[in-house]
Amino acid sequence: MILFLDYDGVLHPLNKKEAKFCRTDLLDAFLVEHPRIEVVLSTSWRQIFPLPALLDMLPSTIAERVIGTTPIFPSAAHEQPAGVREHECRTWLSRNGRGDAIWLALDDNPALFATPERVVLCDPLVGLTPETIDELRQRYRDDRVSEGYGIHF
Ligand SMILES: [Mg+2]
Repeated sequence: MILFLDYDGVLHPLNKKEAKFCRTDLLDAFLVEHPRIEVVLSTSWRQIFPLPALLDMLPSTIAERVIGTTPIFPSAAHEQPAGVREHECRTWLSRNGRGDAIWLALDDNPALFATPERVVLCDPLVGLTPETIDELRQRYRDDRVSEGYGIHF
């Protein structure tokens, strides 16, 4: 499975009180449990930082799972039309020959996705929680079963 990863509102809450990337450990532990999941960065930070800098912000155990960043559409760089992030994710999949891949997005903004079933949502003022990770685990399990892999993975 491919997991599209947002930063703001996911890896840290959107407030000034808590450190950036303070929720990253929760995702790290989930990925250790699921070694076949690949990560593509969909965060808007990719409009500012090159991939090596984006990777330096993550623990190496997450960074080593990252296989790319979603494309930036110039028309969407400053405003984010409804559904645009899903369009970016799907464009990444088709451009990289992964159009058949099961995918999920971890994000805090439902308006950026046209297909709610593909998004595991965080509260932007909280970021990742153990409950979000539980939902991610369940969605991954459901997708694997529907993909025909059975429950052993
Ligand atoms: Mg966000």
